Amino acid sequence: MTLLNDTHNPALKSWLASANSAGCDFPIQNLPFAVFRRKGSSEAFRGGVAIGDQIVDLAALAKSGLLTGEAAAAAQAGAQDKLNALMALGTPAWSALRLALSRALREESAAQAALQDGLVPQAEAEFDVPARIGDYTDFYTSVHHATNVGKLFRPDNPLLPNYKWLPIGYHGRASSIGISGQSFARPVSQIMPPGATEPVLAPSRRMDYELELGVFIGPGNALGEPIALDQAEQHVFGLCLFNDWSARDIQGWEYQPLGPFLSKNFASTVSPWVVTLEALAPYRQPWTRPQADPQPLPYLDSAALRSEGAIDIELEVFIQSAAMRAQGLGEHRLSRSNFKHAYWSVSQMVAHHTVNGCNLMPGDLLGSGTQSGPTLEEAGALIELSVGGSRALTLPSGETRTFLEDGDTVVFRAACEQPGAARIGFGEVRGTLLPARALN
Ligand code: MN
Repeated sequence: MTLLNDTHNPALKSWLASANSAGCDFPIQNLPFAVFRRKGSSEAFRGGVAIGDQIVDLAALAKSGLLTGEAAAAAQAGAQDKLNALMALGTPAWSALRLALSRALREESAAQAALQDGLVPQAEAEFDVPARIGDYTDFYTSVHHATNVGKLFRPDNPLLPNYKWLPIGYHGRASSIGISGQSFARPVSQIMPPGATEPVLAPSRRMDYELELGVFIGPGNALGEPIALDQAEQHVFGLCLFNDWSARDIQGWEYQPLGPFLSKNFASTVSPWVVTLEALAPYRQPWTRPQADPQPLPYLDSAALRSEGAIDIELEVFIQSAAMRAQGLGEHRLSRSNFKHAYWSVSQMVAHHTVNGCNLMPGDLLGSGTQSGPTLEEAGALIELSVGGSRALTLPSGETRTFLEDGDTVVFRAACEQPGAARIGFGEVRGTLLPARALN
């Protein structure tokens, strides 16, 4: 597991003033990665690291000669238009780059003059999906979400018996994963209307979001060689925000017996910034399992998991309707939750995914599943907040919502905060639902 080191010291300050302001997502203790270029330009996308309201350009840094050894090699790998090569290098390289950047960005660093002219303001940047995502697997790690949704889909049998024994997942679609700012048409597919005996082809009327974290895989494993639980985090590059948009009426008709299909694969949205596990080290918590529940099989259990397998990350969901935008109303918070409530850890997802010999590759994405907390107010999807569409939520504009309407923008934000540690933010992921395409 990741140990605390010099880079986590909460007293560290940067020569860049915006990195030191209270509430900043990207202080010198964070240093998350993205791929970016200047907005509206035809520049090549390349890797960057957030500091305050600026971006350190890894392509420029690699050329500058400022770094040496493993840190220089990591910056060189991160200079490409996707982060796969950097992800493939593994923890020692990421750590060396993090330490070198931390030193170069500190107050009174001799590197200030060389670095500051090359910074790109985040407000002047556009971002791309950080990796070529070869494969994407979505999990279902919140027992609260699984129980709430299970009650709606199967009132007599909400939580299936396998849930407490293995991290449930399905193989999703990588081609439709987009970067924050994505907008997409309301999907059309087969829906079985309530009380009907035959399905219709129609736009979804029950559009939802899913509040998730994305897990980017670093070094992969060879086909046939499982990753052991206590090695699993060596294969994780970092975490981002992830919106797994879902069409509940399409899902309800199609999902048995093989799981979600067109209800999920029309769009999913990632945040630009990927926060490394090393940056999250101060926010580790014991992973626990209620005594009355089945305890994990040995391949999903360890002392390290029990002592620090969970991560305390506060998650928030906001909505802004087209009418709210027109009226100048800001985003309205729908709920808050926390990743520490997950029933299965990041390491358990990786260990279970590979226990049969399945090979993960650098840049693969795992979704955590919707992160609902123990109370209904902490639900991470509208299907839970509106109790299956039976209870409307009221927005500041006076509009009501059970599911999403055309023009709705959904924004997730996340951050870690506790006394004695620097705030570690994730930025945001946002996306907008557009009207359905005309049916022929
Ligand atoms: Mn999902």
